[in-house]
Amino acid sequence: MKILIYMEKTFKKSIAEMLKYMTANGLDANPLPKVKICKDIHEGPACLHPTGHYEPANQTITLQVNGRHEKDVLKTLAHEMIHHEQNLRGDLDESKMQDTGDGYAQNNEHLREMEREAYERSAMLFRDWTDNKKNIDEKVVFYKDDNKKLRRFDTDKSKNKKYN
Ligand SMILES: [Zn+2]
Repeated sequence: MKILIYMEKTFKKSIAEMLKYMTANGLDANPLPKVKICKDIHEGPACLHPTGHYEPANQTITLQVNGRHEKDVLKTLAHEMIHHEQNLRGDLDESKMQDTGDGYAQNNEHLREMEREAYERSAMLFRDWTDNKKNIDEKVVFYKDDNKKLRRFDTDKSKNKKYN
C-alpha cells in the first residue's frame, strides 16, 4: 500500500524525467506515444504476469502497475519506448511483422531482433539515466523506520566498490 501511494505521487514526474533523458540521448520517439496505466490484478505465477505492451496501430503503451515497484514499471516503459521508435521508423509495419503468434520472440527472426534491440537499448539508457540522476539528486534519502520515524540514509557511505 505504501509503495502504491508513493508511486502515484512520483510516477508521472519520473516518467517525464526518464523520457526527457532518453530522447536527449538517442531515442527518436517524436511524436511521443500515449501511455495507459493498467491496475488490473493478475492470477497465476507472478513471473508470468504481463508487464506492459505496445500497440503500433494506435501508438499506445500500456503499463501494468499492480503490485510492481516503480523502478520495474519504468524499465518496462523504457523497453516499450524502443518499440515505439521501431514503429515510427517502419520496423513494425505489418509487412515486416509476419507471424506474431505465441513464441514470436523465439521463432520470428525479425521480431527477435526487435526484442533484442528493445532490451539492450532500454536497459542501457535506463542504467545511464539512473546513474545520471544519482549524480544530480541530493545524495541523502529519507525513509520511515518500523516506528514510522523519519530517518536519513546516507548513500555515500555504501556507495564505494559496489556494482549493480
Ligand atoms: Zn518487447
